[in-house]
Amino acid sequence: MTDCLKSASIAFVTMEIALEPGMRCYSGGLGVLAGDYALAAADIGLPMVFVTLASREGYVRQGIDAQGHQIDVPDPWDLEKWAKPLDPVVRIVLEGRQVAVRAWVHELQGEGGARIPTLLLDTDLPENSAEDRKLTGRLYGGDERYRLLQEAVLGMATSHILKALGCTIATFHLNEGHAALLPVELVRKGASVDEARDRCVFTTHTPVAAGRDRFPLSLAERVLGPQTRGLLERLVPGEPELDMTLLALGMSRYSNAVSCRHAETAQEMYPGVTIHAVTNGVHLGRWTAPAMADVFDRDAPGWRTDPDCLRRIAGIEPEEVAKAHGKARTHLIGEVERLSGIALDPDAPILCYARRMTGYKRPALLFHDLERLLEIAERQPFSVLVAGKAHPKDDTGHAEIARIHQAARDSRGRLSVVFLPGYGLELAAKLVAGTDVWLNVPIPPLEASGTSGMKAAVNGVLNLSTRDGWWLEGYREGRNGWAIGQEGGDPDEHGPLLLEMLEKQVLPEWYEHRDRWHCMMRDAVATVGPRFSAIRPMHEYAAEAYRLPAG
Ligand SMILES: *Cc1c(COP(=O)(O)O)cnc(C)c1O
Repeated sequence: MTDCLKSASIAFVTMEIALEPGMRCYSGGLGVLAGDYALAAADIGLPMVFVTLASREGYVRQGIDAQGHQIDVPDPWDLEKWAKPLDPVVRIVLEGRQVAVRAWVHELQGEGGARIPTLLLDTDLPENSAEDRKLTGRLYGGDERYRLLQEAVLGMATSHILKALGCTIATFHLNEGHAALLPVELVRKGASVDEARDRCVFTTHTPVAAGRDRFPLSLAERVLGPQTRGLLERLVPGEPELDMTLLALGMSRYSNAVSCRHAETAQEMYPGVTIHAVTNGVHLGRWTAPAMADVFDRDAPGWRTDPDCLRRIAGIEPEEVAKAHGKARTHLIGEVERLSGIALDPDAPILCYARRMTGYKRPALLFHDLERLLEIAERQPFSVLVAGKAHPKDDTGHAEIARIHQAARDSRGRLSVVFLPGYGLELAAKLVAGTDVWLNVPIPPLEASGTSGMKAAVNGVLNLSTRDGWWLEGYREGRNGWAIGQEGGDPDEHGPLLLEMLEKQVLPEWYEHRDRWHCMMRDAVATVGPRFSAIRPMHEYAAEAYRLPAG
């Protein structure tokens, strides 16, 4: 067994993680962030192990039918190719029967050579029933019973597997409420409530209700047993449901939200506990295009482990950043043509909207007044790239995808709108590196953080975003992008404002002041890179949440 596993004292427990494009045990932002944190933990040598479900069937492979509707198909992947099976098998009791769980291990290596293991929990064992073998199959699939069973595997098997592997875990980091049964299992196995609480920290990732798992107590009783139901009612008194967020908050010694603004929102939602702010970050080495990384290596050496080095980019010629971005841009234009058959105009700026397709993110806001948009495009041409999956049960998200396809058809000949199916690690890397404007229009304060805009900024892409999440901390007026609307402004005004800013600020800057545009690109790198690297939040977690000695 591997040494990095033995020396781990912090376990980061997450329903999903995006480590490699071929390991499809992730759906989107939550998993990509976990993957970035694993990489950053390796870079700075934190003694961590990450734990997730194997999710052999993946999440959703996105097909689009002739009418522009998303078709949801499973997206299986080869666990055997990416991870090695470990010997110990632990058994947990679900719905009154024993379910066997084993772990597979994947390892990644950081800049200094330190390794970080990820355990992938798997119930696909011959001794389990056919149904139980599929429990760790489809990420976020099935009904609410399936979801609770999955979260029970994650929450209840993790501590036993780690113990069986010889790990001594001081702190469990519950990444979102999915892992909230972990401290419950510690209590069931003999810890006092205070002892269990003292071993857990919790991060809440969204104020949106759909991201907050709640289960009927009757279902909890059926899945976890009457005694555990009684325990849950003691741990979170007076709740008519099993609310995984409230459970995690109540059973953690430290809780945080993922941006300053989100911490304020979460503090209002959960007044009884202190919610700290640890603003998200992204793994710069993973998200920086090769040509841009070359610039950093030359002009900001050391940036891979000390992101502060990127401040030096403020002093280089803007054209250096523009040239490096130009390579990624040319590559992207080639990829778009290969994937869609559409040749984008290389002289026109490329706007990109790529994120999960769901209501509060307003994926079709750009198209709310299509005639006006097309008029703007006639005088100052630009192209639009769109990507993103809808959760199979999110009807609004599905409708938005269909609306965007309709807008693309209605724009034909006057504006290129290209929908690229299958938003995932690989497509995201191309888009954040090669587009010119990164569009983000959530209804404030519902975007807890957002991370794709950070990836774009370090590649010299300018953000055009409503005032929400990380952008409130990253935006420098007129220097590194644009903010839509005023804080506390009416969200219904964002659509018209977006078109007005496009027409009067963004496009004129491109067509009439390209030198200033290049300065903004450079300053986006120099202002966002140092503050929004995943290394910064990992240092914050280490010091404040994990209580690790500094250094
Ligand atoms: C970064 C990333 C996300 C999260 O981006 P948001 O800005 O938070 O929407 C989602 N999916 C993929 C594939 C990503 O790379």
